[in-house]
Amino acid sequence: MKIVFASNNKNKFREIKELIGSGLELLNLNDIGCYEEIPEPFSTIEENALAKARYVYKNYGLDSFADDTALEAESLGGRPGVYSARYASLFSGKEFSSAENRNEANIIKLLEELQGAANRRARFRTVIYLILRGREIMFEGIVNGTITEEKRGHKGFGYDPVFIPDGYNKTFAQMSLAEKNIISHRAKAFNKLAQYLRKQEH
Ligand code: IMP
Repeated sequence: MKIVFASNNKNKFREIKELIGSGLELLNLNDIGCYEEIPEPFSTIEENALAKARYVYKNYGLDSFADDTALEAESLGGRPGVYSARYASLFSGKEFSSAENRNEANIIKLLEELQGAANRRARFRTVIYLILRGREIMFEGIVNGTITEEKRGHKGFGYDPVFIPDGYNKTFAQMSLAEKNIISHRAKAFNKLAQYLRKQEH
């Protein structure tokens, strides 16, 4: 069975490949000759993930899946949400020269918005849409936690330095990747997908 992960993110690709095992041929976008950025124009992560998977299915005729992730803060009505990746740009109109600068600006914006908030509860939510033989199936992974008042730790990426998952007293950025991958939103969603795909092989 051949399936396309509608992404060119090498880290995610390695992660999902490991979970799925060898019974299945996993391809990324470059493998199928797709070099463009697939647009994510929608206002929910569900629609964006589905659009990316459909793009591959329609244009290349191959089974595929795609993911999208959001950080959702309770007292901000779910913001930054679908705009997590470009949160600071959205407010300032500024584009950032590197992922590091963008992540840093996003964190500053989030902490600013939460200044003085009594409720600092938040969750990471990953949605995956799989299109298999024309059927569209969704998988979701959630990790609940709280947003710190300042950055802690240097590992990981994105909002990791300000997110403490429930049951821990350290941020994602203070955890090893192996530790984070046991409990993360993305790992949970990928695990559900992998379990489903393994079942299809028999
Ligand atoms: P994506 O859909 O995986 O590209 O995630 C969208 C945005 O959410 C990223 O650009 C990050 O800002 C944030 N994000 C997603 N996953 C994580 C994570 O595991 N830790 C911290 N931030 C994340």
